[in-house]
Amino acid sequence: MPSHEDHKDVAVDPGLDLFAAIDSLRREMNAVILAHYYQEDDIQDIADHVGDSLALAQAAAATEAEVIVFAGVHFMAETAKILNPDKLVLLPDLEAGCSLADGCPPREFARFLEAYPGHKVISYINCSAATKAMSDVICTSGNALKIVSSFPADQPLVFAPDRFLGSWVSRQLHRDLVLWPGSCEVHEVFSEKRLVELKALHPQAVVAAHPECPEGILQHADHVGSTAAILAFARKTPAKQIIVVTEPGILHQMRKENPDKELIPAPGADEACSCNECPYMKKNTLEKLYLCMRDRTPEITVDPGTAARALAPIERMLELSR
Ligand code: SF4
Repeated sequence: MPSHEDHKDVAVDPGLDLFAAIDSLRREMNAVILAHYYQEDDIQDIADHVGDSLALAQAAAATEAEVIVFAGVHFMAETAKILNPDKLVLLPDLEAGCSLADGCPPREFARFLEAYPGHKVISYINCSAATKAMSDVICTSGNALKIVSSFPADQPLVFAPDRFLGSWVSRQLHRDLVLWPGSCEVHEVFSEKRLVELKALHPQAVVAAHPECPEGILQHADHVGSTAAILAFARKTPAKQIIVVTEPGILHQMRKENPDKELIPAPGADEACSCNECPYMKKNTLEKLYLCMRDRTPEITVDPGTAARALAPIERMLELSR
């Protein structure tokens, strides 16, 4: 069986109809394909479910398929595996990581928590299984306000690993949170100066931003929310121009749902780079999706002890999100 490393160099027959081949494998394997909104357009189009982290975790928890193919990043596939320890969970490229997850090493996080006895720990789903295992409950950007509000007002809380999401939640709820100092390398590079210039060029436009962005960006937004909430806002707003401040993969669904609206992706600080594209999400390609299904690798595995400890806080989130 070819290894993951082999996949990097395997040339897929250019004559192969990848859509048909993936569809046929999906039926043969009894597989479900879950894709995040930041995946490339073709992957979103072939997926059974396209969604944000919360919707995809809910889909993973509910699926009866034997195989879960997760077109997203590693922590998402890991969450699916924790929810489905007996199923085969595949990720098209094992190097599809996440700066937030990588920026919260479990050992350092454990030492950090020692300084906050008596605190409950809320971890954003963008973290490793080992970090989840040290948490009381998991949240996503779609339910963070609800999850934090589920604790009594006098309960001290640690929020990890995204300090920008955490400080937005803290401002919204007027509640102090101890923040782990992590960030998303994609959302932190949006430029406030260039956003202000863009707004001046499009005075009728409304701004929708993801809460992983720094406060300087969010203060210019008409709407702040998860990718699913940004999509809902785009459908509802009467505005005909929307400046979108998140990873531009979301524009694919947004264009389908709003053919009459002009969608304007917000720029990063550097004109010369596409820094607002997530380099990890973009590791997955349609070819790699096909190869991982054909070869049933790379497979996601989680240490059973860690998985058992991480399951309870994930299930608590799913329960609170019903
Ligand atoms: S966009 Fe940011 S938070 Fe999302 S996977 Fe990429 S690096 Fe991680």
